[in-house]
Amino acid sequence: MFVRFWGTRGSIAVPGERTAKYGGNTSCVEVRTDDGTIIVLDCGTGARELGHHLLQSAPQPLRIHLFIGHTHWDHIQGFPFFGPAFHPNTELNIYAHSGFHRRVEDAIAGQMQYSYFPVRLHDLRSRIHFTELDEGFFRIGEVLVQTQHLNHTAPTLAYRISSHETTLAYVTDHEPYWKPTARGFHHPGDQRHVAFLEGADLIIHDAQYSDEEYAGKIGWGHSTVEYATDVALAAGSDCGSSGSDRAGSRRCARPRAGGLCRRRRARAARTWQSAVRGVGRRDGDPASAGRGQARARGQLLRDRDRRNRSSAGR
Ligand SMILES: [Zn+2]
Repeated sequence: MFVRFWGTRGSIAVPGERTAKYGGNTSCVEVRTDDGTIIVLDCGTGARELGHHLLQSAPQPLRIHLFIGHTHWDHIQGFPFFGPAFHPNTELNIYAHSGFHRRVEDAIAGQMQYSYFPVRLHDLRSRIHFTELDEGFFRIGEVLVQTQHLNHTAPTLAYRISSHETTLAYVTDHEPYWKPTARGFHHPGDQRHVAFLEGADLIIHDAQYSDEEYAGKIGWGHSTVEYATDVALAAGSDCGSSGSDRAGSRRCARPRAGGLCRRRRARAARTWQSAVRGVGRRDGDPASAGRGQARARGQLLRDRDRRNRSSAGR
């Protein structure tokens, strides 16, 4: 499975030198599975460059599966600029939650009314099919997709995508149901959230705020970096971390809290801090920077787990 980030920000695009490392566009991730299936996760402003890339590099005619987590603007505002949608050879399959008061198709079309954009949805030349989703499973060829509700201010779905031996979980936007304690997750919603992520090779997770910022943002529908890390670690079926700083020397025997290895959590936090130091707070938009950082953090943790497991000969 190939995964590439074309948009890593939330709320609004933040272009500029200070966001160059992880990019300034809003949510958009390209996924290509081993059987050639092309999946696009969300259609924020990153979709414009992805569209150019697909038209130039992907086998034609294009068959694209676009999974929308929810229809907040930062997840759909790239759609009117997504080049393949304008081409008659493109088949575009759009999947999303059925929404609050309107169909997915109406939500996408709404941002393309003449008041906002010169080309209407139904004037696009590609063949577009809409599928409204709820929780459950569906297949695209060899790819198995599972959906589960997230805790956000609009109806939002997480996607768990499995192809051959690899699983990717795309989990944004989401707020903890209840603050976890040192003893773990107490709310059934959080426990269910962890179960959804269990065993995933890569987790892309909302993490808009730090713990300090979150105190003033409860109910806004977003996670903290700390929560994202905790659920990612709790979702690991085995700690797999080393008892010493040299990976693989022995299995972790450190005390755990609620299934979390304290040593591993601390080490993960240090890795995260060193990875993002000098990026987030200098963006001038720390809130939106946080989400992109958390996605990178999830990847760091999974990479570390893999190294530890392989070093331990497992
Ligand atoms: Zn949102």
